[in-house]
Amino acid sequence: MQSRVRAGEKLTEVAEPRDAMLHFIGRIRTPWTERKDCPRQGRTDGPECRVEVFAPLAEALLGVEEYGHLDLLYWLDRARRDLVVQNPKNDGTHYYGTFALRSPQRPNPIGLSRVRLVRVEGAALIVRGLDCLDGTPLIDIKPVTCEFTPKAPPKPADG
Ligand code: SAM
Repeated sequence: MQSRVRAGEKLTEVAEPRDAMLHFIGRIRTPWTERKDCPRQGRTDGPECRVEVFAPLAEALLGVEEYGHLDLLYWLDRARRDLVVQNPKNDGTHYYGTFALRSPQRPNPIGLSRVRLVRVEGAALIVRGLDCLDGTPLIDIKPVTCEFTPKAPPKPADG
């Protein structure tokens, strides 16, 4: 279901999506079924959410428990993709380009949250810090850069 367009907001013709060969790696379970109930940004003292990784990829979680925080990328599947100028306050005054916002409405509706890892339960991560609807598809999981030391040998360009 596409969200409504507010007065003065601008849409554009969006290109036919060219397949980027992405596949979803799991699904996120949260307490929120409606957008109005989701936080605008997750907080690490927010409720526990369950990040379920699909079975063939379960082994890809090896070592993840070493990290206190993870970056999660997810697909905001119920967002519209054609808004270029937005009026987030719906006040008819303050307009912003989509790329100056973290709005879910964007050409490629990718969400990014830094979450606190509470525990690992088999192929699921229990985290705090999410802001997405229940059932949101998961794109990727990465350790946060400040906790991560590259496992591969350094390259000359690393200085
Ligand atoms: N933290 C992410 C970011 O900054 O990239 C997402 C921020 S976005 C402002 C969060 C909002 O997106 C929520 O409050 C909700 O209104 C909306 N939202 C959450 N899950 C969604 C989904 N699956 N599809 C469309 N909109 C969603």
